[in-house]
Amino acid sequence: MIPVSALPPAFIRSLEGIHGFSRESFEAVHASGEQVTSIRFNPGKLANCQLDTANRILPLAEKIPWAAHGYYLSERPSFTFDPLFHAGLYYVQEASSMFLEQALKQSTNLDQPLRVLDLCAAPGGKSTHLQSLLSKESLLVSNEVIRQRAAILEENMVKWGAPNAIITNNDPQDFGKLENFFDVIVVDAPCSGSGLFRREPEAITEWSGQAVQLCSQRQQRILADSLPALKPGGVLIYSTCSYSKEEDEAILDWLLDEFSLEPVVIRIPVEWGIVETRSEKHAACGYRFFPDHLQGEGFFLACLRKKDGDRKTGRLSKKPALQKASKNEVAIASPWLDGAIPMQWWKQDEMVLAFPALLEQELLMITDKLYVRHAGITMGKMAGNILVPDHALAMSTGLHAGIVGISLKKEEALQYLRKEPVNLPASEQGWALVKYQHIPLGWVKVLSNRVNNYYPSAWRILKSGNN
Ligand code: SAM
Repeated sequence: MIPVSALPPAFIRSLEGIHGFSRESFEAVHASGEQVTSIRFNPGKLANCQLDTANRILPLAEKIPWAAHGYYLSERPSFTFDPLFHAGLYYVQEASSMFLEQALKQSTNLDQPLRVLDLCAAPGGKSTHLQSLLSKESLLVSNEVIRQRAAILEENMVKWGAPNAIITNNDPQDFGKLENFFDVIVVDAPCSGSGLFRREPEAITEWSGQAVQLCSQRQQRILADSLPALKPGGVLIYSTCSYSKEEDEAILDWLLDEFSLEPVVIRIPVEWGIVETRSEKHAACGYRFFPDHLQGEGFFLACLRKKDGDRKTGRLSKKPALQKASKNEVAIASPWLDGAIPMQWWKQDEMVLAFPALLEQELLMITDKLYVRHAGITMGKMAGNILVPDHALAMSTGLHAGIVGISLKKEEALQYLRKEPVNLPASEQGWALVKYQHIPLGWVKVLSNRVNNYYPSAWRILKSGNN
C-alpha cells in the first residue's frame, strides 16, 4: 500500500495533462494495496500437461484479453514450490507487458520465417513470449548487456525449451555489425520505472526528473545503436514501464526526426482500457497502460516500421566459431530428439549442439559477430561413444517422447529441484528423465546402489519449506 503522500509531487505534476491520467483514481489505485498476479503458459509444453491439470495447480482466474496464453491468478501462490514453474510450463509476467503480442501480431506476418531481436531481454519475459509467437522456422536472438542478468535470461530461456533461440551478451553497439539483418527488433528499454511503483514501492525513492532525463538519453543511444540492424520494411517495437513523456512520446518524435520510420497503428477494443496517445510533433501513436484503467501495471508501447532504404547486409568475417559434429556424434545424439525439426549438428569443445538446419546461415552470422552464451539445444558432452545429456536437453521441447521417464510426486520433485538425494522406485540403470505431471524436470543417473541427481547446482531451490 502506498500512501498518497509517498508519490513524489514532481512526479504527479509531470503526469498532469497526459491523456488518460486522472490524479484521483491514480493515487487511489496506488493506495489500495491491490496486487495483480499473472502468468503466461508455454504452448510448447502445455500440450504435455493439459490445461485442466494446470488449472488444478494454479489459481487461474480470467484470461488476459490481449494475450492468448495469459491468465490472471486469483491469488499469488508460492511459485518457488511449484515444480512446473521450474520446468518452464509457465512464466510469471506482468499482464500489461503481454500487449507485445498485439503489436507483433498486428504489424508482422507471423507465418513467415522471421529474424527477431529482443535487445534488452533479461530476465526473459518478452523473449519467452516472442518465442511462443514465432514460427519454428523463425529465429529469436535474446540479448542482455549485463553479464549476471544474461545468466538469468539464459536460465529462463533454457527452461522455456525453444530450439530456435540464441542468447547473446552484447552491448547494443555491437548490433551495428548486423546491418539490415532483423525483421523485428524489440527494445524494452531500461527506464525510470514509474509504472511499477505499485508493485515495487521501494523504486519511488529513486525517481527524479533528472533520472527521467538520463533514461531518455540512454534510450536514444540504445535505439540509435540498434536501428541499423533493422531491415527496411522491418518493425521496431519500443516499450518502457515509465509514464513519463520524455521516455515515451518524446522518444517517438525523436525517432521520427532522426530515422526513416513510420508509426504503426495497433487496433484496441475500448473495453481493454488501454489509452491511445499521440506524440506532440508527429502525432505518432503509442499505447499507455494505467493501473486504474485496467488489471495491470503502468506500461507504454509503440510500434514503428522502417521505410525503404539501403539493403546492404554484413558478411562473415572469420572462421566459424562452431564446427560441424561428426557423423558418429550425430548418430549418437540424434535419437534423443523427436526429429520434428530438421537439425544441423554442431560441436563446440566437447559439447554437441543441435540448431534448426534452416537457420544455419543465421547461426554462423550471429556467432561471427556477437558473444553467444547459448544457441539452440545443448545436447550434452561426448564421453567416448556416449552422450552425457545436458540439462538443456531435458528442458527442450524437441526431446524425444520415448525417453525413459520416472514420474515424481510433488515432495520428490521438490527434493530433486533442491538437488537432494532422491529415492526412486526400482528402475533400469542409466540415464533417466524425471517428470512431474508429465513435464520433464531434469536428469538422474540410476546406478546399482543409488540415484545421482543431475539438476544444475546454480538453479537449485535454496528456500526451505514446501509452500
Ligand atoms: N525485456 C525484459 C523482460 O520482459 O523480461 C525486461 C527488460 S528491462 C525493462 C531492461 C533491460 O535493459 C535490463 O535487463 C537491463 O539490464 C538492460 N539494460 C540496462 N542498460 C542497458 C543499456 N545501456 N543497453 C542495453 N540494455 C540495457
